[in-house]
Amino acid sequence: MKNIMFIAPPAAGKGTQAELVVEKYHIPHISTGDILREISKEDSEIGNYVKETLASGQLVKDDITYQLIEDRLKKDDCRKGFIIDGFPRNIDQAYQYDKILDKLGYEVGNVILINIDKKTLEKRITGRRICEKCNSIYNINDEASSPKQESICDNCGGKLYQRTDDNLASFETRYQTYLDKTEPIIKHYKDMGVLTEVDGNDTIENIFKSIDKIIK
Ligand code: AMP
Repeated sequence: MKNIMFIAPPAAGKGTQAELVVEKYHIPHISTGDILREISKEDSEIGNYVKETLASGQLVKDDITYQLIEDRLKKDDCRKGFIIDGFPRNIDQAYQYDKILDKLGYEVGNVILINIDKKTLEKRITGRRICEKCNSIYNINDEASSPKQESICDNCGGKLYQRTDDNLASFETRYQTYLDKTEPIIKHYKDMGVLTEVDGNDTIENIFKSIDKIIK
């Protein structure tokens, strides 16, 4: 069983690396951000709350995330392993995650911390485009990661969109939140002896090589 967790600042390439891991190991990619973006489309009280919170760059309430993580991990496809991305975002979520894993009989697995410079992140955040159909990720500020045809997904022909929180103002909030809240999480997993760091300033291929070595 391969359980993997990514910890990285916004736009560090977690989603892209997760896609590569999925391709190679055929395990599900569980992104709380993706699940919340789906919820934000609902015309309901919770849908509206999540939509507003996402656009502001703040974190949604912990209780909402606990429920959606537990429900997702209970599904059969997680038995052979999974990649968790975007959770935990604070130390309380990390403690709760330990409890959920315990309850379901899962181990935390490999926690992979992607380190990356803020300047690189700012460039990536403004160029990121996502396929509205299949969630493939592109970056128009980087030739190698640009779609072949403008605004069209190479994989499925879907339309590409820019996330409402992928602007420099939202990024600043998200980045500060990351710095403030992530340090105790890193310490928690270092103390457990499950954390490995990789350099996220490298190319997509080289970052994946480092991640693959850890998983193997
Ligand atoms: P991401 O796609 O991981 O960058 O997440 C996008 C947004 O979803 C974040 O800025 C938060 O508003 C929300 N979000 C994602 N994961 C969590 C989480 N574990 N706890 C609270 N909010 C989250």
